Amino acid sequence: MRIDVVTIFPAFFDVLEVSLLGRARGAGLLDIRVHDLREHTTDRHRTVDDTPYGGGAGMVMKPEPWALALDEIAAAGHDAEDAASGPLFVFPSPAGERFTQSLAREWSHEPHIVFGCGRYEGIDERVFSYAATIGRVRLVSLGDYVLNGGEVAAMAMIEAVGRLVPGVVGNPESLVEESHEDGLLEYPSYTKPASWRGYEVPDVLLSGHHGRVAQWRRDQQVERTRMRRPDLLPE
Ligand code: SAM
Repeated sequence: MRIDVVTIFPAFFDVLEVSLLGRARGAGLLDIRVHDLREHTTDRHRTVDDTPYGGGAGMVMKPEPWALALDEIAAAGHDAEDAASGPLFVFPSPAGERFTQSLAREWSHEPHIVFGCGRYEGIDERVFSYAATIGRVRLVSLGDYVLNGGEVAAMAMIEAVGRLVPGVVGNPESLVEESHEDGLLEYPSYTKPASWRGYEVPDVLLSGHHGRVAQWRRDQQVERTRMRRPDLLPE
C-alpha cells in the first residue's frame, strides 16, 4: 500500500520509522511518503495561509499549494485520467464523518491513500471539490473534539489502517478478536503471575476449558460494552 501525507510539519511523521509500521516500511509492505506543503508555494515567504473571506478570526489554508501538491502525488501514482481510479484523498477534519474500525478495514484494501493535513481554521473548501476531480475524497474526524492540526489524526488513521494490511502484524489472528471488530469492546486480558499483589486472575481462565473460557469472554465483552459504550449496542 502507498500512503502519501501532505503537511506543513513533516517532522510529525518521523515516528513512523519505529515499531511495527517502521518494520513494515522496511519490508516494503507500506510505502509511506511525507511531503512538505511549503515546497509547493511560489512566493518568497512560502505562504500557505491567508485571511478568511467574510471576515472572522484565524487564517485559512490557500488552495494553490494544495492543488500543486495533490496534482504531483496523483500524477506520480496513477496513469488513469478518471477520478474513480485515482487515489483516496483523506482530509482529517472535526467536521467530517467519524473514523471507525470498519473504515480502517475498508481502507486497508486501498492501493493508494493521500492524507491532507489541515492547520489554522482549515483548508479552503474548494480544494476538496478539486481533489474529487482527480481522486475520491473523504473528510474524516478522529472524534468530537478539535485538534490543532490534521497530523495527529492522520497518524492515528495511518496506524489503524496500516496494521490491517496483510503481513504488517505477524499473527493475523490477533487482529480478529479486538475491540470494535465485532461491534463490541474486547474482553479483559491477563498474563502471569496468576496472583499479583492480592489480585487474582479469574478462575475460569485457569480452567483449561475452552468452551467456558469462550463463553466468559463473550459475557465480558457484552457487559463491558453495556457499561462503557452502550451506544455500540443495538436498541
Ligand atoms: N475550524 C475548524 C472547525 O471548526 O471545523 C477546525 C480547524 S482545526 C483547528 C485545524 C485542523 O486540525 C483541521 O483542518 C483538521 O485537519 C485538524 N483537526 C482538528 N480536529 C480534528 C479532528 N477531531 N479530527 C480530525 N482532524 C482534526
